[in-house]
Amino acid sequence: MEKIYLGDWLYNAGIVGFLRINNHLWDVKDTKLISKDENLLKIEDNYIEIDRKIFDGFTDRFFDYAFNLYGRYDRKLNRFKELLENLNDGTFKDVYKDFKEEVNGFTLLKNKLGDIKAENSQELKDLIEKAIRILEQDKEEFLESDVQIFLRSFNGQKSFLNKTITKDRKKKFYEDFEEPLKTDSNQKDKKFTCVICGERPAKKDTNYDTGFSPVFGLNKDAVNFAWNFNTKLPSCDICEIVYFCYFAGLTELNGKYYFVNLDDSVESLMLANNLFKEELEKSPENPFIDFFTEYLLRIKKSQAKYTLSNINFLETEFKETLPKVFSFNIDYKTAEFIEENHENLKSLSKSFFILPDKTRVYILTEFLNLILKKDLNYGLLYKIFKSATQDKAYVSNYNLQRLIIMYLLYKQKVGGKEMGLEEKSLWAMYMQGKNLLERLKERDAENKIQSIAYKLLNALKIGDVNQFMDVMMRVHMAYDLEVPGLLIKALQDKDNFYLLGYSFLNGLLGKENKLQEDNQ
Ligand SMILES: [Zn+2]
Repeated sequence: MEKIYLGDWLYNAGIVGFLRINNHLWDVKDTKLISKDENLLKIEDNYIEIDRKIFDGFTDRFFDYAFNLYGRYDRKLNRFKELLENLNDGTFKDVYKDFKEEVNGFTLLKNKLGDIKAENSQELKDLIEKAIRILEQDKEEFLESDVQIFLRSFNGQKSFLNKTITKDRKKKFYEDFEEPLKTDSNQKDKKFTCVICGERPAKKDTNYDTGFSPVFGLNKDAVNFAWNFNTKLPSCDICEIVYFCYFAGLTELNGKYYFVNLDDSVESLMLANNLFKEELEKSPENPFIDFFTEYLLRIKKSQAKYTLSNINFLETEFKETLPKVFSFNIDYKTAEFIEENHENLKSLSKSFFILPDKTRVYILTEFLNLILKKDLNYGLLYKIFKSATQDKAYVSNYNLQRLIIMYLLYKQKVGGKEMGLEEKSLWAMYMQGKNLLERLKERDAENKIQSIAYKLLNALKIGDVNQFMDVMMRVHMAYDLEVPGLLIKALQDKDNFYLLGYSFLNGLLGKENKLQEDNQ
């Protein structure tokens, strides 16, 4: 058995890709990654172990995976069928134009079609039918060609990707990779050990300068070798094929490729990337935050701090030889904050409010977004309360209060701010709001709630402490209540003002505003 340990991000993407290509050998059950055949594949904590027999049939799996990922063939085929359906004498010109555009840039098909001339819709119909026939009959040839085109952008011109290879690419792949990997018959370098795993002897004459150009900028050892002007990097055949699979570990969005890197375990690496892929398919607008939200809900509290502070997002493009790598990670304090507030955060998972344009905004997602951007402002609270006063927020007062308290904890923990406020101060202020609510009810003045709330909210919106105080004084005097002493703290500090102000408002709005209860 050969062991393949987690490594740099590109190598990790290779492991994810290798597993995806061999997806017949594993399964996910209750968030556990389980091998279906331990004789071929074992999934351990920070490595996988494979028997070389796993490479039996690898060529087909590898090509099929890349072919499906590229997807051009299927897209064209469907498009031609669509054009055929839309074609009539009236649409002839437009369909003809579309057809020519589809064929352009698809060299193999263009060559096979020959002259693409059509004088009328009947001739065009014959032509499109011919294109479909060619695609279907020569599928294998299109597969090999498309895979070559697709993978060249990831791996340069190594082996079957070389421009001089114009046919039998699968055969070449089989001869260069599958067969020698399966039978362990690659010639070994007598002097060098693989620089990547440091375990296996290097394959003789492994040449990195074309095939693995991306590695140069990213792998520390590889950089050292490059500095010595050594174009031949010693690597073993196993690590080589792992790197060769990295394309399958990435997730594409608008021509860019993403990878979620974790050095936690093979299992969490796989599951995180699968989840990212799912979230991306669900909502391509903001996949990162959606991913984090979902991920947070799934991981255990005890894992949160470690996992979140070790998570990295990588974005690469293939316009240049060297991919750009952006990493986006969560600092330790934020991760710790998330861990400590795991339960509070989870309790918000179903709460949402509605914007004037009717968009539904999930509070947890929005809150996490602000934390991750390091921009936790009070605009979110304003929007929630605004929506609540119009009876359009789906969050309980209790959970809303927990959110306000998280603002306090965040400001103290991550912001490092000494505020002279405690959780209990905010609960006390919440109770004061409730007192006022009760008093208004006693005096049959429930109709006043809306206008008081509106005035307070407005003062909070623009951060006007004086206006807020003014309303508080008047109202409390009018209904024979003592003005809450805690308000002095609001005068001292803007953060205190917002936190106390919103807590009060939350109590005042109470159940009277028909805020709906969470299902929690
Ligand atoms: Zn190796």
